[in-house]
Amino acid sequence: MDGWSRAMAREPLGRYGTLPLSSFLALLANEMIVNSPQPLPGTTVARLLRDDQGRLDLKALDRAGVERFVQEHCDASLERGRAVYQAMWQGGALHFEDMVGVRASIRKKLTEVAFISTLEQDLRLVSEDGTIKYLWRLQDGHMVESVLIPDGDRLTLCMSSQVGCAMACMFCLTGDLGLKRNMTAAEIANQPLQVLQDLPKGVRITNLVLMGMGEPLHNLNHLTLALSNCLDDYAMKFSHRRVTVSTVGLVNQMGELAARLPVNLAVSLNATTEAQRREIMPITRKHSMAELLQACRDFPLPTGKRITFEYVMFRGFNDTAEDAERLCVLLAGIPAKVNLLPYNENPSRDMKAPFPETVDAFRAVMLRHNMVCHVRKTRGQDISAACGQLGKARQQATDGGWVSQPAT
Ligand code: SF4
Repeated sequence: MDGWSRAMAREPLGRYGTLPLSSFLALLANEMIVNSPQPLPGTTVARLLRDDQGRLDLKALDRAGVERFVQEHCDASLERGRAVYQAMWQGGALHFEDMVGVRASIRKKLTEVAFISTLEQDLRLVSEDGTIKYLWRLQDGHMVESVLIPDGDRLTLCMSSQVGCAMACMFCLTGDLGLKRNMTAAEIANQPLQVLQDLPKGVRITNLVLMGMGEPLHNLNHLTLALSNCLDDYAMKFSHRRVTVSTVGLVNQMGELAARLPVNLAVSLNATTEAQRREIMPITRKHSMAELLQACRDFPLPTGKRITFEYVMFRGFNDTAEDAERLCVLLAGIPAKVNLLPYNENPSRDMKAPFPETVDAFRAVMLRHNMVCHVRKTRGQDISAACGQLGKARQQATDGGWVSQPAT
């Protein structure tokens, strides 16, 4: 374990560690519903953090928060609180009564003041290529997705961070939903926990990527709280080297993310000129590509780490040799690796996938300029695994009164 991991295991998140618990919860609650264009009837902040009896979701807290909560409500030591935290995130306890290594008096008190949330599995689809898509129904009926992608000795979980998304990238179906609300820290971190519980004994998720529904940095506080529970040595113990947060370029939040957690950064770039990017990614009107790339240059990367640039290729739009040459110039001076993602065609969009030979030619230019560049295969096509495909269909069906089938 390196110095940072050790620090993460012992110290609470600096941002929250000194806040009184009540202020901390108020801060989270304020961020829960943001510019929600179509709030579901009955969706309230209290319903997301607390249950009908006013009990707090203990998974909405990081380790320091749980320790303080147990100390305050059960008159117990921080160590007892840590045991509760560990039983929840490592033991997978769903009820306080089932917690191993926690005193009966603490379990009894916690049952009165808190609960442990889980996600309801609405669908679980397995692709021919081994990709597994999970569709989760949240407490207020919204749907989000996680996708588990096996690739050699890697098992990567692609997680969601918001219900819908406000960024409206032209090629993305999640963007069509608009932003419904932020996901809570509990809802975000429950994805890897519940997928882990679904895997055969001894099989571990090796990598986490925040590339599912939503713009993770648009929900920064809940995201970093959730990730602290993914990384914590008393919780899921993921290595920060194997956790990647993807952004369309919320430049102000990029530095804040780096200040809080040393996870990897991926930038969804997808263009080589300002005009081209503005056409498909409206965020470019707020933060130009030049501003975004400067933020990448300023990003405090630990030695040996690179920023991943995701580049979705569209036929005849951004897939020419000139684009490849421009991309090399744009990324000059940034420790970068480029993932080329041939567009996954969808009937609701006019855009086409590039020809395989165009992708090869593009990559050849990148390699000639000594760029690290890989072509990523489209995975799980038979189960609509591309971002937002299934969730959008399901959400629309739900909005229209469609009744879900039980998970299989
Ligand atoms: S690509 Fe990502 S940021 Fe863009 S609309 Fe889709 S979910 Fe949002």
